[in-house]
Amino acid sequence: SQIQRVLLALTLPLEVLQMVKSRMMEAMNKGLSRQTHAQANMQMLPTYICSTPNGTENGNVLVVELCQSHVRILLTTLLGNGNNSPQLTNKIFDLPGDITQGTGEALFDFIAQCLRQFLDSNNISNNHLPLGFVFPFSCRQTRLDKAELISWSKGFSCSDVEGKDVVQLLQSAINKQELSQVEVVALMNDTVGTMMTCSTREKPCEVALIVDKGTNSCFMAEAQHMQMVEETSGRMCVNTEWGCFGDDGALNDTLTPYDQHVDQESSNPGLKRFEKLVGSLYLGDIVRHALIALATEKALFIGSNVTALGTKGVLKTQQVLEIIDNEEGMTKARMTLEALGMRPSERDCCRVQQVCRAVVSRSAALCAAGLAAILSLIRQSRGLERLMINVAVDGELYRAHTRFREILQSVTGLLAPECMASFVPSMDGSGWGAAMVTAVALRMAEQRCEVDQVLAPLRLSRADLERVQALMRQEMDLGLGQETNANSSVRMLPTYVRGTPDGSERGEFLALDLGGTNFRVLVVRLAENGIHMASEIYVIPTNITQGTGEALFDHIVDCIMDFQLKQDLMEQVLPLGFTFSFPCKQLGLDKAVLLSWTKGFSASDCVGKDVVQLLREAAQRKQHLALKVVALVNDTVGTMMSCGYDDPKCEIGLIVGTGTNACYMEEMQNVGTVEGEQGRMCINMEWGAFGDNGCLDHIFTEFDRMVDEKTINPGKQRFEKLISGMYLGEIVRHILLALVEKGVLFHDMPCFTLQSKDIFKTKFLSTIEIDGLALKQVQSILQDLDLHATFEDSVLVREVCQTVSLRAAQLCAAGLAAVVEKMRENRGLGQLAVTVGVDGTLYKMHPCFSQHLQKTLQDLAPNCTVTFLQSEDGSGKGAALVAAVAVR
Ligand code: ADP
Ligand code: MG
Repeated sequence: SQIQRVLLALTLPLEVLQMVKSRMMEAMNKGLSRQTHAQANMQMLPTYICSTPNGTENGNVLVVELCQSHVRILLTTLLGNGNNSPQLTNKIFDLPGDITQGTGEALFDFIAQCLRQFLDSNNISNNHLPLGFVFPFSCRQTRLDKAELISWSKGFSCSDVEGKDVVQLLQSAINKQELSQVEVVALMNDTVGTMMTCSTREKPCEVALIVDKGTNSCFMAEAQHMQMVEETSGRMCVNTEWGCFGDDGALNDTLTPYDQHVDQESSNPGLKRFEKLVGSLYLGDIVRHALIALATEKALFIGSNVTALGTKGVLKTQQVLEIIDNEEGMTKARMTLEALGMRPSERDCCRVQQVCRAVVSRSAALCAAGLAAILSLIRQSRGLERLMINVAVDGELYRAHTRFREILQSVTGLLAPECMASFVPSMDGSGWGAAMVTAVALRMAEQRCEVDQVLAPLRLSRADLERVQALMRQEMDLGLGQETNANSSVRMLPTYVRGTPDGSERGEFLALDLGGTNFRVLVVRLAENGIHMASEIYVIPTNITQGTGEALFDHIVDCIMDFQLKQDLMEQVLPLGFTFSFPCKQLGLDKAVLLSWTKGFSASDCVGKDVVQLLREAAQRKQHLALKVVALVNDTVGTMMSCGYDDPKCEIGLIVGTGTNACYMEEMQNVGTVEGEQGRMCINMEWGAFGDNGCLDHIFTEFDRMVDEKTINPGKQRFEKLISGMYLGEIVRHILLALVEKGVLFHDMPCFTLQSKDIFKTKFLSTIEIDGLALKQVQSILQDLDLHATFEDSVLVREVCQTVSLRAAQLCAAGLAAVVEKMRENRGLGQLAVTVGVDGTLYKMHPCFSQHLQKTLQDLAPNCTVTFLQSEDGSGKGAALVAAVAVR
């Protein structure tokens, strides 16, 4: 029958809703993407609201809300107590009839006058009053307090406002009233206000939905997803302007002839197609057109005069909502129709009720499809399997109708089954929410100040870096001079390695690598067709690295013997190269006096002794007489040598692992500490100790001092303690503690774990700083440390990590700049091309360290072209290569 057909046309099956949902998602992505944004119907406007309230907001906040027919002014006092039961004072001022069509100046002057009256009558005389402005029109916002009106709607058409910054217009009008203590700090859309109104610390809402005369939504989107905004970390609330969904025809196959009539009759035909299916302003007219069609087909109101139905707006949404009521509905239907001059039968009333229900249900179902699209988008962009989220809702349709609520909830559940939405109805319109936005904006600005204060000393300027470079150069020169060597913090130790490999080295060697996290024993074969090796890692427990020297070297020999047994090398006497990565005064290739331990080692009776001799003595104690130690090599040297085997330009070795150090080829004539003027020698800089004489004191922060104090070698290796893997995590930990102390991080959360030394590993920096890593993953790293991070906490932790690792890379670059510039000068070249062989897990694993290092180096040493070559197993290969030279 005809009525069945009409009802069917108004009923959207699940497959259709599914399609609406996926088109909505497409439309949202289109609005978010830089390339397609300009053509998008759904504008997805950034709101610059990046945080939901956390309960600490406090102080007096003013709100001005511009509504259809009035201006509301509201004052709230937040006490920082979780924002419970805030004090609110508010007053409504009716808009004079003509003002919405007059000049912009008159409109804003009127608002400012209302504000003045309000403040006067409430005796408010604060010296600073932040104000939030609720402005329910689409704006192109570029900051929280900067928003150009795109175009008027809702009957407003004041001149000279479109294209202008509305915040400025309001502020000027306020200043004209001599209220300059009032500062407009935030502008927001009403949807955002709803989201904030419903948010509490325990239950932050991240989506808001308004289904009123019009409809709109907003949600907290991942900032990196919002290509229109510079911000890449954290989240920002985006105003979807979803009322415009379908303006490109995306909804055409769901539209009924009644929707087309409603659209044609409207003041903006072809526009706001989604809104015209969902918003309450239109529901009465949709019903009306359906009834006209049915009457024309003689399926309704037979014998009645239906001319009244021809007038737009005669059937009010309120009436539609009353008609669909279960108990009173039929009576309401009859009354409504009779008031329009008809004489409806019982059956007519029943059918009218069915049509009304269909229209309202469709509105709810479409709204659900939109919401499901938002939820799915959030879930995807956050990389979650399941999403639990709170959705703030406001508007007469939602509030007034159980049926609408039920359909919205159940259809959302069907369309986005992997998302769990809890609906939080708004209690008090947008005023309170706007106050929250304003207060949050103030809190964020204050926090930013605090954070910047803490991090400022860690942010190095170009001048700072140039100074470090110059100081490093100065210390290098001192370290190379026979007389001045003792005054330098950079020891510039001769290594007796006089050349880089030429590829002709051959033979089979044992190699040891001691000097950091792992102790390794290797067998290395240098052959015609390349280098072959086998190795074994041995753990050296702390009680041995910090025990007696005898025990340490006994343990080393045990490991060598074990390795030789496993590799079936017991019968051979292979020459052994020993990579020993601690500062040694070398007197020859196989004679090296330990100057000091670093990187957590402290075995007794070793400093001042020849390390090769200590190893030989241990071999004797163990009756291992077939050990032939021919060379001792620093790991930097090993790294340079192993990379030099592949690239003859490699004349620098760099380590950024547990510790940091560098070596390079220096002219013999500059090496005052070794006899001879011919050729070059590799100098082990021991740059980790740079600054131990106080020359870097201006760079150290309180955090560096705290980290240093808790090491086993306080006051020593100060440069290393700014750069290397053993310390970066600790620096971060101390900064985090300071931020917790200031109340800007992990607010109100227990963070006992942060008190434990070394709990924050340097490898966490690598993970946390991965570009585009979902903040959820940062949260989960912190969760593993028993730290319950909010979203903002995660963003802040990431910023701290970035600051610390950037500084490390830049300082390392400043040191290297001094080295390459010296080499260039040594050789009297305008341009130097040189390769650095690099090893160390921090350099290799950190996502940005090497880029920052290279970029800064290029900047500081523009006349040097520096190539970086990662060494693979440099320590082992390098030791063998040096041994090969020694044997030859
Ligand atoms: P060593 O310098 O002792 O020879 P490595 O080069 O392997 O050893 O460096 C070990 C150091 O690297 C450790 O101190 C650790 O802090 C750091 N580290 C380990 N994993 C990572 C990672 N994924 N990112 C950054 N640093 C790391
Ligand atoms: Mg190493």
